[in-house]
Amino acid sequence: MKRKPIVAANWKMNGNRALVDKVLESIRITGVDKNVQVMLAPPATLLSYLAEQVKDLKLDVAVAAQNVNEMEKGALTGEISVAQVKEAGAQWVICGHSERRSIFAERSKKTAEKFVKVHQAGLTPVLCVGESVKEYKNGKTFSRLTSQIEAVFHRGGEAALKNSVIAYEPVWAVGTGKAARPEQAEEILLFIRNLVSSICPEVAASIRIIYGGSITPNNAADLFSQSNIDGGLIGGAGLEPEKFIKICQMA
Ligand code: PEP
Repeated sequence: MKRKPIVAANWKMNGNRALVDKVLESIRITGVDKNVQVMLAPPATLLSYLAEQVKDLKLDVAVAAQNVNEMEKGALTGEISVAQVKEAGAQWVICGHSERRSIFAERSKKTAEKFVKVHQAGLTPVLCVGESVKEYKNGKTFSRLTSQIEAVFHRGGEAALKNSVIAYEPVWAVGTGKAARPEQAEEILLFIRNLVSSICPEVAASIRIIYGGSITPNNAADLFSQSNIDGGLIGGAGLEPEKFIKICQMA
């Protein structure tokens, strides 16, 4: 099955309206291939502005939130609900980014809860999974990925992964400049696809599984040429329109 590749930028706590304008202008001018799904995840304050600009420019760019709270509403100062990001224009939501897991102590059970709530709201959840440096060194990569993905099945059942995306982001590669080797990432993404197949066979061939971690225009083509890598989640290079566009063109 041919899967539409995704090139996604996670801006983290960076960016402003000027960056939205710059990135969209670059996408508009270069005319990124229609067979590539671009996704932009700016800070929550920029979601409505991004959504409006995407609509006005008639660009096929998915607007994504970087995180949500799993509760519907309530006394949760500083948090944002799924309904709120949806109203602001988000169509996709990143769930369980490694920074949420490590800096904000988010456990897989909580990530799974967010993932299911996002799904139930009709948005596309992007489940980030990945092992830490220590787990990598101790040969625990596969068991860590299995527990992170199984947490979603345990909470959401077999249908959980329909219309969703999985992003494999090894923590040792995120923001470090040390990307996984293409064949190394391919092996892990194949493992993830086989794991999905063992739990939910009808989703395995179509689910898009992307790689993230120090992708640049220098390594993107080799990573994207692997048969199980359906695109990339980009951090640092996503803040530089020229680099981001080059990566989109390689997908
Ligand atoms: C990320 O934060 O999701 C990421 C992949 O960052 P970078 O591309 O900078 O490694």
